[in-house]
Order: sequence, then C-alpha cells, then structure tokens
Amino acid sequence: GEISDYLSVHQLTKKFGKFTALDDISFSTKLGEFLCVLGPSGCGKTTVLRAIAGLEKPTSGTIVVEGRDVTQLPVSRRNVGIVFQSYALFPNLTAEDNIAYGLKQRSKKAKGVEGRVTELLETVGLSGMGNKYPAQLSGGQQQRVALARAMAISPHLLLLDEPLSALDAKVRIRLRSEIRQLQKRLGVTTIMVTHDQEEALTMADRILIIDRGKLVQMGTPGEVYDKPATPFVASFIGSMNFITKVRKMEDGIFGVGEHRLKISNGRGARRVQNGEPVMIGVRPEDVMIQADGGDGINTLNTLVSAIEYRGSLFRLSLNLPISGNDYTTIDADVPSEKVRRLGLQENMHLPIHLPVDRIRVYAA
Ligand code: ADP
Ligand code: MG
Repeated sequence: GEISDYLSVHQLTKKFGKFTALDDISFSTKLGEFLCVLGPSGCGKTTVLRAIAGLEKPTSGTIVVEGRDVTQLPVSRRNVGIVFQSYALFPNLTAEDNIAYGLKQRSKKAKGVEGRVTELLETVGLSGMGNKYPAQLSGGQQQRVALARAMAISPHLLLLDEPLSALDAKVRIRLRSEIRQLQKRLGVTTIMVTHDQEEALTMADRILIIDRGKLVQMGTPGEVYDKPATPFVASFIGSMNFITKVRKMEDGIFGVGEHRLKISNGRGARRVQNGEPVMIGVRPEDVMIQADGGDGINTLNTLVSAIEYRGSLFRLSLNLPISGNDYTTIDADVPSEKVRRLGLQENMHLPIHLPVDRIRVYAA
C-alpha cells in the first residue's frame, strides 16, 4: 500500500479445512474512507471483516493498520468498533449500560463515562432513552445503540456487518444516510459489509466486490456501475443484457450474425484478437429506441415480445434475430411517458440503437 493508506490487507487467504473462503485478497483504504464490501451471501464478506477485527486468524496474508502489522494482535488491541447484523445487545442491560460496557472494561475509573454515554446517545439520536432495555426499543433504535456502543471507545476503524439488513425498508433507508453523515462528521474509517447493491451504491466512497472468495473489482460506485469488470459484477450491480457468439472483426467493430456493431471501448482489457469470440453487454437503460435518434450506426431491428410495467418505466423484452432461426432477447428500460407517446405494444417492430460507448466487451 501507499503511505496515505490507513488500512492495507495483503494477500489475505482464509481456509476452513479444505474450503477456501477467501482467496488472495488485497486492498487498502484511505483515512476517513467509507468502504463497502459487497457480494452475494456466502461469498466471504463476514470473513474479511472478522479477519480485520481480529476475530478470525488468516491462513496467510497480513493486515496493516496505520503502518503497523496487526495480523497477530487480538481484537482487544486493535481499536476497532464492531456492529453486527443481529443487534447483539446485552438484553439485561439498559441502552446506556450497553453503551458504557466497553468503556468500563477499558478504564477502571467510572469517571467521565456518564457524560460520554449521554453524548453518544445524542449522537445516534436517542437522547433520553438511555434507561430503556433492548426489548423496549425498535429494531432501528437497537441498531443505533449498537452503533453508539461501537463508537464509545472512539475506534480508529469502524466495522459494520450488514447493520441494516434486519430492519424494514423505511428505517433502513433513513439509517443509511444517518450512518453516512455520522461517519463523515467523525471521520472514522469505516468498512461496511452488505449484500445489498443499492446500499453500497448510495453509501460507499468505494466498493469492493467479492465473488466466491475472490476480489473481482474495487472502485467508486460510478466506476463499478459504468465499467463492471466481469459479467458477474455487471449483473450483480444493476442488470445487463448479454449477447453471446459475438466476433471481433477489426478494432472497434464486432459481428453478431449479420449485424455489425461499433464499440468504442472494444479493445477492452483483454486484447481480443480479430476473429476471436467474445460476449458483449449493454444495460437495459442504455438501449435506445430508434425514436431517440440513432445515426444509423448500431441500429438493430427487433420485435417487441413483452412489455412489463414498472411504474416510472416499462421494461421491454425485444427479440433480435441473429441469423436463420437464431435470435436473442434484449431488455430495454423505456420511460413510461415515451412508451405511451409512441404507443408501443407487443408484436410491434421496433428499431433500437446501442450507443457505441455503452457496450462492454467480455471474454466469451
Ligand atoms: P458472507 O458473509 O459473504 O455471507 P461468510 O464470510 O460468512 O460469507 O462465509 C464465507 C464462506 O465460508 C461460506 O461458505 C461459509 O459457509 C464459510 N464459513 C464461514 N465461517 C466458517 C467456519 N467457521 N467454518 C467453516 N466454514 C465457514
Ligand atoms: Mg455475512
């Protein structure tokens, strides 16, 4: 890592018996950054967090915080605050006693603890509720207490493992922005695990995506959405149409059956050879219908096979003939107003346009 890196994880591998849960993961975060670790259930997110916390011993690899190798340090010496998905509060302690718990363990003197707890309750928006027991609090309030408890020791690193996933949608969305604001205000470097792509896109400075124990991409929300490194990332974050049996004809020109497509980023990372088969991807919202004024390039004639209402937009399923009886389906998201204005219906012929700079090329 660089000097400015706050936390660096080097070649972290974790095996449980013969099973490799984490495979050679390396990344770093900057001071004050909000990093989201995103991936489907079982991909290894919690294991990453537990290794950073000191709750799980890596099979190999190192974890460096503030230039210090902490790989072998126990959790108590790492100065981390942790919040788990399940509220994990002590049920027999009040909110304030839950928050004070870590503080009292750290220093023998109870002096100053009370003031600090009052301040923390205020920070998480629970002033005056310190004497309530967990069972008397809603899920959202319990997670606020858990957050205050994690912050009590003024950790240098805040680790959050799906802290919002047990909450209902409204509370979840409100807490997203509250946690983000609090984190910014305190400037505490934070790593949050989530399987929710929307949560990662809305909260993170950068997102790290894990697929079956391997890090597949790390970047800002805009980067991972606009330039997904693999088909997995493309379909995990948002949705993506894939067209297979595509061949590179020459630089920037690709062939699908009789069709020729111009692709501006077609050389891609993989240096595809002429004649080599590839797969291309285009997001439903990037599929333009002909009325949007394509200039003839990348115009394809399709047949509308289904129209699905989705509120502000319709998702159109379009059949694109490839050659002979072979066809592929392309989904297009079209604003509802436009669908109505153009009177789009099933079984209509519809020319579409694929913008040259919105098509991704992947290995076949
Ligand atoms: P995630 O948090 O992304 O859902 P985890 O990090 O919890 O995934 O788990 C990753 C994989 O490692 C899963 O297949 C899980 O079953 C396995 N795993 C996690 N902890 C253990 C353990 N203590 N013993 C054996 N397998 C484990
Ligand atoms: Mg998990």
